Amino acid sequence: MKIAVAKGDGIGPEIMDAVLKIFDANGVGLQYDFVEMGKWVFDKGYSNGMTPQAQQTIEELGILFKGPMETPKGKGVKSVNVTARKTWNTYANKRVFQTLHGVDTVFSKAGIKIDVTIVRENIEDTYGGIEHMLTHDVALSRRFITRPGSAQVIRYAFEMARQKGARRITCGHKANIMKLTDGLFLEVFYEIAKEYPELNADDKIVDDLAMQLVIRPDVFDVVVLTNLQGDIVSDLCAGLVGGLGFAPSANIGDHISIFEAVHGTAPDIAGKNIANPTALLLSGLGMLRHLGFTENAAVIENALLYTLEQGTRTGDFGDRSKPALNTTEFAEAIIANFGKQPEVGAKATSENTPYTSAVCHLDKNPMLVSKEQEEEKIVGVDLFVESSEQPNAVAERALRQTGDLFKLVTISNRGTQVWPKGSVFTNLVNQYRCRFETTNDMAVTQTDIIELYRRVATEFKVCSTEVLNMWGDKRSYSLAQGQ
Ligand code: NAD
Repeated sequence: MKIAVAKGDGIGPEIMDAVLKIFDANGVGLQYDFVEMGKWVFDKGYSNGMTPQAQQTIEELGILFKGPMETPKGKGVKSVNVTARKTWNTYANKRVFQTLHGVDTVFSKAGIKIDVTIVRENIEDTYGGIEHMLTHDVALSRRFITRPGSAQVIRYAFEMARQKGARRITCGHKANIMKLTDGLFLEVFYEIAKEYPELNADDKIVDDLAMQLVIRPDVFDVVVLTNLQGDIVSDLCAGLVGGLGFAPSANIGDHISIFEAVHGTAPDIAGKNIANPTALLLSGLGMLRHLGFTENAAVIENALLYTLEQGTRTGDFGDRSKPALNTTEFAEAIIANFGKQPEVGAKATSENTPYTSAVCHLDKNPMLVSKEQEEEKIVGVDLFVESSEQPNAVAERALRQTGDLFKLVTISNRGTQVWPKGSVFTNLVNQYRCRFETTNDMAVTQTDIIELYRRVATEFKVCSTEVLNMWGDKRSYSLAQGQ
C-alpha cells in the first residue's frame, strides 16, 4: 500500500524521519511517495504551497501523512495546512487526548484518567476566511455554518463514538448567542442523535464546556464542535494531557484523509534534532489503524507507552533531573522496546485487517444540498450603510427613501438597536444596519430590493446587503439586540 508523505518545514523532516524509521523497523507494509508541500514550495512560486504533481499524487493515493508546514507571512497567501483540509473536504478533525503514563500532569498526579476525543468541524465557520473591510473602522468576517457540512462531521462523530464504544457524546456550541449558525449545528446534532439511541447525547455551551473540561475531564468522552471553537477546545485538551508534544490529529474525509500532529514547525528548535516526535507518531498510529494496520499500531503504541513509563524523554517534557534524548535516540529507544507492554494502558493487539480504499475518481464536484422544506418569500432587506451621524439623522435620511413597498423597522449599530428606541450610552461606530421590511408583510422580488438599494445609495455608501427571507412562518434572520 502506498501513501503520500510530506515532511513539512522546521522540525517536520526530523520528526517525520524518526516516525518512518519506527514504522519501517516494525515492518509496516507501507510505501511512501514523498510529495512537495510547504513553505519552500510557496517560495518556488506555487501560491497554494503544493506542486500540481503533489496534488495529483495525494488525490490518487487518498492518504497524506504530513509534517507541520509554515505559511509565509505577509505575502497574502493562505495556509497550506488549511488549504489541504478544505480542498479535499476532510470535514472531520479528530484529536484524541489520553493520559499517557510517564507524562506527568496535574491530572495524572491526582489519579484522574483522561480519554477525550474532540471532533472539530474542519472546513466551514470563520475558516472560510471570507473577510472584508466595510468602512475604515469596521471589518466583517462571514461565518458559514451549513446543514450538510454540519451533518457530515456530526455523523462521523457519532459513528466514531459507536465504534469506540463511547457512552457519551457532547455537542459544544454557542447557540444561545449565535442562534442561527450554532443553532443549526445543534439542531443537526440532535437530529442525528436519534439514530444512535445507545449513546448519551447532550450539549454544553462552549464556555461552560471549557470550564468543565478543566474541572472534570474524566466525565467527557466524545465532543463535537464547530471549527473555531473546536480549535480552541482541542488545544485546551492538549494542555490537559501534557501539551502539544502529545496531541495527534486526523483530518478525515470521504475520499482523502490527512494525518498530522497538532503542533507547528517549532522554528525555535528546528534543525537541532531535539524535537519530540510523539505527537506525529500518535498521528501516524491513528493512520495505521485507519488503514487496518492494527497489529503494527498496537505493538508500536505499547513500545511508546513503555518508553514513556521508563521516564525516557525528549527535552520538552518529563523529569528534568534525567538526561533528555534527542529525536533520533528517542525513536531508537521506542524501537528497542518493541514487544514490551506498558504497566498502564496497554493496547490489545488484533491482527491487521485489509483496508478498503475509499479513493474514487470524481469527474465533478459533489454538491451537498438538503431538501428544502418550506415555501420561501422575501420580506425585506438589511442594508449596512456607512455613516458617522447620530441614529435619528440616519433614520431621517433612510426614511426618505423607503418608497411604498418598504418600511424602516429598526436601525442597529454593531447589532444593538439604536433606533426607534435605544440608549445614548451605546457607543457607535461608523456603520449602521438599516432593516427594511415590506409593508403588510407582503412578498417582494429581488428587483424590488435592488430598487430600494439604488434609492438608499443616493443617501449613503451601502457597504453590505442581506436579504430577509421567511420560510413558511419561520424567520431566516435574527433580531437586533433590543428589537
Ligand atoms: P509551534 O507548535 O510550532 O510551537 C509552539 C511551541 O511548542 C514552541 O516553543 C515549540 O518549540 C514547541 N513545540 C512544538 N512542537 C514541538 C515538538 N514536537 N517538540 C518539542 N517542542 C515542540 O507553534 P508556533 O510557533 O505558533 O508556529 C510555528 C509555525 O508553525 C507557524 O508558521 C505556524 O503557522 C505553523 N503551524 C503549522 C501547523 C500545521 O502544519 N498543522 C500547526 C500549527 C502551526
